Amino acid sequence: IQWFPGHMNSARKKAAENMEFTDVVIEVVDARLPAASSNPMIEELRKFRQRPCLKLLNKADIADPKATQAWIEHFAGTPGMKAMAVSFKKASDVAKIVGWCRQLAPHRGSPDKQLRMMIMGIPNCGKSTLMNALMKRKVAAVGDEPAVTKSAQRLEINSSTVLIDTPGLMWPKIEFPSDGYMLAASHAIGTNAVIDDEVAFFLGNLLLERYAGLVAQRYGFDVSGLDGVGLIERIATRRAWRVKGGELDIEKAALAFLKDYRTGVIGRISLETPASRAQMIEIARATV
Ligand code: GDP
Repeated sequence: IQWFPGHMNSARKKAAENMEFTDVVIEVVDARLPAASSNPMIEELRKFRQRPCLKLLNKADIADPKATQAWIEHFAGTPGMKAMAVSFKKASDVAKIVGWCRQLAPHRGSPDKQLRMMIMGIPNCGKSTLMNALMKRKVAAVGDEPAVTKSAQRLEINSSTVLIDTPGLMWPKIEFPSDGYMLAASHAIGTNAVIDDEVAFFLGNLLLERYAGLVAQRYGFDVSGLDGVGLIERIATRRAWRVKGGELDIEKAALAFLKDYRTGVIGRISLETPASRAQMIEIARATV
């Protein structure tokens, strides 16, 4: 998967400027792929400015709880960082966020020393959902299409707490090919009809390897011996999805499968764990 970091430099500049007026950086990542959905630039910038970071693994409601727990432990050692698993769709989770930020910047949080928070993250990780939830009203457009979020704003949550120039949109850094596939599967980067199939095959392979039971349960057939391509073909066959001329409608089945993963109906799934990522990096390095 190829992509072009068009606005990377201006996004970096803007974030660096805003960070000067920020006490706590709230970095939002997707709990199902916390490494692939992070942008190392956020960590670089906030360390350079010596700002603490609340790292929120969002969408924990549809991620694999065991994998999420492993990621929280993995991040626990990072200086100046507090990592928590949340769902922005749960009011009880959102209600804790300002308190966590206060712990990270204990000298702030009064009307004359407002606690200033900046939300950052890649497209579709939940930045707008978080803004709206914190503000208790609609201040940002939420959409499943990548990059719906638009202009920068400054918003008062209460007299002691403000959201600065949010949200800071960062493009993911696609360091390894599998990052691109994981991000496309999770709708953080856009795809087109040509690669939707490829993304679905990738996701199929991964899910068959780690969550075969959930896949079998969702689609109601035996998945043993299937690979990603076989799985998508089987879904098309079972649903009798054919194109004109009678061939299987692979594209339709691929899109249905991707949608099932994105909405969480297959079950609680994570695409990477600290261990799988370490292994992937090792293999990638060995083959260079
Ligand atoms: P942004 O591009 O970072 O601003 O992301 P959005 O706030 O627009 O959210 C992207 C998609 O993720 C939307 O469809 C949201 O409804 C969905 N979403 C956000 N938070 C959660 C969550 O905690 N759980 C689940 N399941 N979906 C979420």
